[in-house]
Amino acid sequence: SDRMVLGPLVGSIDQGTSSTRFLVFNAKTAELLSHHQVEIEQKFPKEGWVEQDPKEILKSVHECVERTCEKLQQLNIDITNIKAIGVSNQRETTVVWDKTTGEPLSNAIVWLDLRTQSTVERLLKRIPGKNKAYFKSRTGLPLSTYFSAVKLRWLLDNVKEIQQAVDDGRALFGTIDSWLIWCLTGGKNGGVHCTDVTNASRTMLFNIHSLDWDPELCQFFDIPMDILPKVRSSSEIYGLMKSGALTGVPISGCLGDQSAALVGQMCFQDGQAKNTYGTGCFLLCNTGQKSVLSEHGLLTTIAYKLGRDKPVCYALEGSVAIAGAVVRWLRDNLGIVQTSQEVEKLAAEAGTSYGCYFVPAFSGLYAPYWEPSARGIICGLTQFTNKNHIAFAALEAVCFQTREILDAMNKDCGIPLHQLQVDGGMTNNKLLMQLQSDILCIPVVKPSMPETTALGAAMAAGAAEGVGVWSLNPGDLTAVTCERFEPQINPEESESRYARWKKAVMRSMDWET
Ligand code: ADP
Repeated sequence: SDRMVLGPLVGSIDQGTSSTRFLVFNAKTAELLSHHQVEIEQKFPKEGWVEQDPKEILKSVHECVERTCEKLQQLNIDITNIKAIGVSNQRETTVVWDKTTGEPLSNAIVWLDLRTQSTVERLLKRIPGKNKAYFKSRTGLPLSTYFSAVKLRWLLDNVKEIQQAVDDGRALFGTIDSWLIWCLTGGKNGGVHCTDVTNASRTMLFNIHSLDWDPELCQFFDIPMDILPKVRSSSEIYGLMKSGALTGVPISGCLGDQSAALVGQMCFQDGQAKNTYGTGCFLLCNTGQKSVLSEHGLLTTIAYKLGRDKPVCYALEGSVAIAGAVVRWLRDNLGIVQTSQEVEKLAAEAGTSYGCYFVPAFSGLYAPYWEPSARGIICGLTQFTNKNHIAFAALEAVCFQTREILDAMNKDCGIPLHQLQVDGGMTNNKLLMQLQSDILCIPVVKPSMPETTALGAAMAAGAAEGVGVWSLNPGDLTAVTCERFEPQINPEESESRYARWKKAVMRSMDWET
């Protein structure tokens, strides 16, 4: 049959907290040609616990790859044009598996999970002055339930099979990128056990300056170093696909989802920033080759290292645990909407929260507070408050949390941001985007191709040495068309609402003591 001639294509696995996607892009035009998405089950076996099944995640990847390839063939596109595959993934989520059987040794502990609160408290006792920020100069991170090291510590302490596998030399640790790359490149039959610098920088075992696992940190957390993956750059050939429709295609890009979005939004310049609204919300600002240590509750993280011989770039990051997840909660726990999309209509019917404030501190508060003992509150209720106001307040909460991060970012960097580049599943909500612009008093800019996370991983994969189908030279990158939201309320009104929000946040603190 007549097949379209398109030139090289690049595939991208986007393994997020709520779903897995596989997308195929044209390497010359960055056009998205086809994709497939599968929702992932999140298990909440106990209060504060969040788990996922690593096998289900792997299966969803295979399914997305196969279905996307079928769709491409239906479009008459030759899948042998796919020259590389990138991986972007939910970060920090921790898996331990048995390298002899290829089987996970427990469910993955998802980044949001709070079970390690007592582990964190125990570890803090061993730190001079119980200082949460003690390792920050080395890792960029405060000691928190969020990062992989404490999750791995918990698994070693609580799952006998895992400690046994470690003792027998059968255990491998990884974040989701490692788990997937190991499985896709052969698993127990020669799979490659690696991760990239961006994912490694979220474990709290990695020295972000020397770019190596840190023996002292491994000792502090009592983690055996031989179970850790080899750390590679974000753009190089790690191995080849060993099964399925894309057998033989190199996997040559790997970035944690937030780094991938930064790349996909083309934020390559010092001072450029993006905010991604998914399950949580993550604002990253590129600080170039210098790592900036925050004094206002932000993290220092690795933005990317796009090649073995390329320089490492850093980012300041504001992480918000609950963004889209609050909408999912309205859907699954309160049942006031049937789908996440419906929340926009519900909130728009009210057009205001009517003085109601919703602090969704379900997993404590992340940046800028880092307060695990905070819990969610809805306050300012009156006889008049209804579900529309609560829906509005939930959306507003996402915007206020972003404002707190941006304020911290402006203080740390000194140069205020003039506009905010956004992406992620929640940015389909136009009301949310308008509210965000109103609350920040700056324009919000959304690319018309919203899959920036997948695009970033595809770019890294296509640009890798030995692949070379995607140019990252600024002049060669295709211009992105965008939708803009301009502030529409006066700054005084915005300030007074923000002040109320801060008051509500104070009331959510120190609940779980
Ligand atoms: P992740 O990368 O974390 O898996 P996504 O970027 O896929 O997340 O976004 C999914 C999240 O966004 C879900 O929590 C969902 O509730 C929320 N969401 C999706 N669409 C909308 C919408 N139109 N309005 C509000 N929230 C939405």
